[in-house]
Amino acid sequence: MLHEVAAGDLEPAHICNPLRKLFRRVTILTGNIEAIDLATRSVTIAYGSEALRRELPYDHLILALGSETNYSSIPGVAENAMGIKSLGDATLLRAAVIAMLESASLEIDAERRKRMLTFVVAGGGFAGVETIGAINDLARESLPHYGRINSREVRVVLIHGGKVILPELGEALGLYAEEKLRKRQVDIKLGARVTAYADGVVHCDDGESIPAGTLVWAAGVSPSPILKSLPFELSKGRVVVNSTLEGSGLPGCMGSR
Ligand SMILES: Cc1cc2nc3c(=O)[nH]c(=O)nc-3n(C[C@H](O)[C@H](O)[C@H](O)COP(=O)(O)OP(=O)(O)OC[C@H]3O[C@@H](n4cnc5c(N)ncnc54)[C@H](O)[C@@H]3O)c2cc1C
Repeated sequence: MLHEVAAGDLEPAHICNPLRKLFRRVTILTGNIEAIDLATRSVTIAYGSEALRRELPYDHLILALGSETNYSSIPGVAENAMGIKSLGDATLLRAAVIAMLESASLEIDAERRKRMLTFVVAGGGFAGVETIGAINDLARESLPHYGRINSREVRVVLIHGGKVILPELGEALGLYAEEKLRKRQVDIKLGARVTAYADGVVHCDDGESIPAGTLVWAAGVSPSPILKSLPFELSKGRVVVNSTLEGSGLPGCMGSR
């Protein structure tokens, strides 16, 4: 539901459940796991604003660290693009779209105005498609409040490396979603990849450069880097597990699939 927060359809508190309310018999500690020592069966966490450290012993360890946004070392993307991975990202994105509309309504330089009113999302999977729909809805539905912006000035672009968006759903549903988005004035660029994002311009490998004040990166994730420090067999950075989800050769230590 992050995209609904980004679109302003839902408030952040509407999609969050406090863990402490959900799990009454579970001890919950909020911290950043910095190290895992499988030999001594302990986990080191950093907590609080001062990043204080504490070592916690365990009997069984379940690894469920999720993934991180993968910027694939593309120049300028990690520094300048926005993510859509957390509630904070969604809230920032909503604010960023509105800030662009505010700035554009004041801007008289045509080139700068065009850049402010161009929103690009890289990645045509679930996250990217949901996000482009959210940005499109938010920007276009806000326009009645911005009398100085013409709807034709707003450009919303989805860039996807494959031939069909939403590849997880199969071609027919991908084409259906594409048609729906195009009807809602979303530009869809297929078979293209972002090669750089510099000085407010998104560069693509097909030679097109799109001046855009906003780039959202939804073009891939990579597993938690902590896994690399552990003596597990990894496949594409993910832990290889057996039929009971135990990491290879280390009974009692489980990964999640
Ligand atoms: C925009 C968007 C839309 C999506 N829509 C859907 C959808 O509609 N349907 C669907 O099924 N899936 C959807 N997904 C995918 C879904 O969110 C993920 O598949 C799912 O969250 C993975 O669950 P997980 O528990 O493995 O990891 P996560 O949910 O990422 O949880 C991992 C947790 O580990 C924590 N963590 C990581 N490293 C550390 C550390 N070092 N120390 C302490 N804690 C740490 C993280 O903070 C996080 O809380 C979407 C994802 C995105 C980004």
